Amino acid sequence: MTYFADLTPYTYLERHDEYGHGVSDEPPLNVGWLDAAHPFPTGAPPDGLMAALTALATVRVRQTRGYHYCEICVRDMGEDAMDAVRQGVIARESAEFEVRGDGVVYAAPQLLLHYVAAHEYLPPAEFCTAALGATI
Ligand SMILES: [Zn+2]
Repeated sequence: MTYFADLTPYTYLERHDEYGHGVSDEPPLNVGWLDAAHPFPTGAPPDGLMAALTALATVRVRQTRGYHYCEICVRDMGEDAMDAVRQGVIARESAEFEVRGDGVVYAAPQLLLHYVAAHEYLPPAEFCTAALGATI
C-alpha cells in the first residue's frame, strides 16, 4: 500500500469489484491511506463513527492477494516488528471499503478502522458526515 493524502483522487487500483458492490461512476476520493512517514490529523471521532465505519467496512471492495500491515505499528515496534508480523499480531488488511457522500465516493483501506481505533486518526469531517449518514 502507498500513502495518499486525504481527499485526493483515487488512483491506486483499477476499480473493479468481483463481488459486485461499491462500483460507481464518480471518481472516488482517498481517505485514510496513512503510512509511518506522513503526519495525519488526530482527535476524538464523532459519536457513532466507529459503529458506522464497522458496518460500512463489511462491504469489502478491491480485495488484494497480499496483506498490508499497519506501518505505524511496525514503526513503533522497531526491531521487534518483523517477529510481530510473523506472529500475526500486527494489524493487517487486504481490501478497501467505500463511503458514499453527497455526489462523491470515498475510497478507504480497511485499515482505516484500525487507524481510528488504535492511532486516533481523525478522518476529514466530510468523510465522517458521509459515514454517519450512510445506509448500506
Ligand atoms: Zn497500527
